[in-house]
Amino acid sequence: MLKSFQKLGCSAGIPTQNRGTTSLIISEERYDIMFDCGEGTYLNWNSHGYKWKRLKYIFITHMHPDHTAGLIPLIFYRNILRIEHKLIIYGPSNLKEFLLTSLKHQGVNLKFELEILSIEDTDNFLLENDIEIKSIQLEHKVPCWGYRIQDENQSIVFITDTLPLDEIIKFSKNTDHFIHEATFTDNHTELALETKHTTLSQAIKLGKKANAKHIYLTHFSPRIEDDDLLKLVNELGFINLFSQGKVLM
Ligand SMILES: [Zn+2]
Ligand SMILES: [Zn+2]
Repeated sequence: MLKSFQKLGCSAGIPTQNRGTTSLIISEERYDIMFDCGEGTYLNWNSHGYKWKRLKYIFITHMHPDHTAGLIPLIFYRNILRIEHKLIIYGPSNLKEFLLTSLKHQGVNLKFELEILSIEDTDNFLLENDIEIKSIQLEHKVPCWGYRIQDENQSIVFITDTLPLDEIIKFSKNTDHFIHEATFTDNHTELALETKHTTLSQAIKLGKKANAKHIYLTHFSPRIEDDDLLKLVNELGFINLFSQGKVLM
């Protein structure tokens, strides 16, 4: 059963002092699932009290460094600490070669079983304890996937980075928690289109059309100041993952 979720980072591209690059952690009764692992994720994960023994799965949305640069350090620290149970990472088909080549060149000899699987083979995964994960291909500068995580009662949708697609509405229909990237303010709609990202009000519109119970925005450009972001939250009426702690389900 899904228990909670929490953002570990919500900055787009470059981290700021207050916002790490993208990572989200979802806790099930018996284990945790991490989604994306940008630079600095380990420290944020650790400071919120998450434990190695519960971290069983990592899902990666796409290969951009603000979503993957924390993976090699995380694997390296896990190896030093001799955490022995298996770790399963799902991601784009080139993730496996990227990780194994990096580990080889960095002289890391794994002491645990690391399984790296492609998310391109299927759009439906069943994890332990009947947690179902569905994926959707998004439209970004590089191949990118969004995820819907559900048990028999509740669901969370996590979508980053992408143009605002109509397909996202159907994929997210009636979800309890809709988490979507909102890289730019609406003053930068052109820039969002050019870089294949979504603006704040485009993301909110998708969540409303999907009839999501709660809409959370994340992946904010460092050009949006913390104070401005908090003002926009009040004006536009969404929950921003920058100020949000652990969300209980
Ligand atoms: Zn990104
Ligand atoms: Zn990206």
